Amino acid sequence: MRLNVIGGGPAGLYFALLMKRRDASHEVTVFERNPPDATFGWGVVFSGRTLSNLREADAESHRRITESFETWDNVDVLLRESKVTVRGNHFSGISRLRLLNILQERCAELGVDLRFNTEVEDVKALARDCDLLVGADGVGSFVRERYTDAFRPTLGAGRNKYIWYGTRQLFHGLTLTFRESGAGVFAAHSYKFSRDTSTFIVECDEETWDSSGFDEMSDEETRAHLARVFARDLGGHELLSNNSRWINFLLVKNERWSAGNVVLLGDALHTAHFSIGSGTKLALEDSIALFQCFAAGMDVPRALVEFELSRKPVIEAYQQAAHESRIWFEQARDYVRLDPLPFAFSLMTRSGKVDYERLRQRDPAFVEAYESHLSRSISEGDSQDGQEERQTQKSER
Ligand SMILES: Cc1cc2nc3c(=O)[nH]c(=O)nc-3n(C[C@H](O)[C@H](O)[C@H](O)COP(=O)(O)OP(=O)(O)OC[C@H]3O[C@@H](n4cnc5c(N)ncnc54)[C@H](O)[C@@H]3O)c2cc1C
Repeated sequence: MRLNVIGGGPAGLYFALLMKRRDASHEVTVFERNPPDATFGWGVVFSGRTLSNLREADAESHRRITESFETWDNVDVLLRESKVTVRGNHFSGISRLRLLNILQERCAELGVDLRFNTEVEDVKALARDCDLLVGADGVGSFVRERYTDAFRPTLGAGRNKYIWYGTRQLFHGLTLTFRESGAGVFAAHSYKFSRDTSTFIVECDEETWDSSGFDEMSDEETRAHLARVFARDLGGHELLSNNSRWINFLLVKNERWSAGNVVLLGDALHTAHFSIGSGTKLALEDSIALFQCFAAGMDVPRALVEFELSRKPVIEAYQQAAHESRIWFEQARDYVRLDPLPFAFSLMTRSGKVDYERLRQRDPAFVEAYESHLSRSISEGDSQDGQEERQTQKSER
């Protein structure tokens, strides 16, 4: 089989290596516009379960990836003077560049033809030249655009602005920090992804963004401003930029997932808000799902139908959870009025993926502390808030 893959991100590289590993006679070419060591962003997180999927798919890349992991089980929620820790949440962090380098090396070892510094302009010509063309060209997919009548995509922007930084301050665990400036509320999502660097993503609502005057600030001024907002969290370390710029999250969905012998994978096909940390995971699992159709002996048309049928419900469930999570962050301005424990509870259960019982199993001490807080506030007649929290507790149950 002859396969052309556009995009050397996690989705494209992983699909290429799985196909080539299964059958060395496949001719697999990956076209990537950037050089091998160029990347946007800093680290990415994976949830625990992703790892076993990767091990089953290719033990060698799984080994190299997990050797480079930083792992933790705590989510730390920082609000005003308090830090609430919730345990039992298994995550791993890795530098995006390291992940890409591992996948590139593995592709090269297996004989995938990697063509860096190669911008694809004529998608249709490339599609004619192969049995399967994979559009793994990211959120702004050119392939999706070229076949828009077939894929019928819908694109929608989130309301918050966010920016993706790094910092030498080390956050041991997924740390969600909420700070108020005179302009409004800022949230930071941070975690260590190597021995000396953490990801630090900042988001805020449009009103906060406008009142802060970011539209008139340079990159340096923006970083200095945000370093002041998060001064007590950054321990004197600066925010590091890597082509970092403010953007709105873009939700991508496609009504159809293939057009003839062309299929989309990863962010080109669907996105899920970064607050549930699953974009890379979903991109890699897409590759596994499509690969498995071919491994089961299907030809291209059948594999593409089966891929869409089996994978779409999984993606829709993630997108729903990510949507709930995104909306929560868009309304953070209202939630920060809560006390730290109910605030952390609301944050942990925002996506609907973790309910009251699951949270209790993960961290009984946290749920106990939360329940004691509720009882205290009710008995102290701290009535309105307490009753609201009790209501929340009941509905979560
Ligand atoms: C702020 C932020 C934080 C995130 N945090 C996380 C996280 O913690 N965990 C997580 O799992 N995910 C996270 N993600 C999401 C993650 O980065 C993406 O979901 C993931 O990279 C998708 O992989 P992909 O291979 O589909 O696309 P990409 O990684 O975007 O790769 C697409 C590739 O295609 C190339 N390309 C595009 N067009 C062409 C062309 N015409 N010719 C040749 N090459 C082309 C690009 O150069 C690029 O290398 C985050 C995203 C953002 C924005």
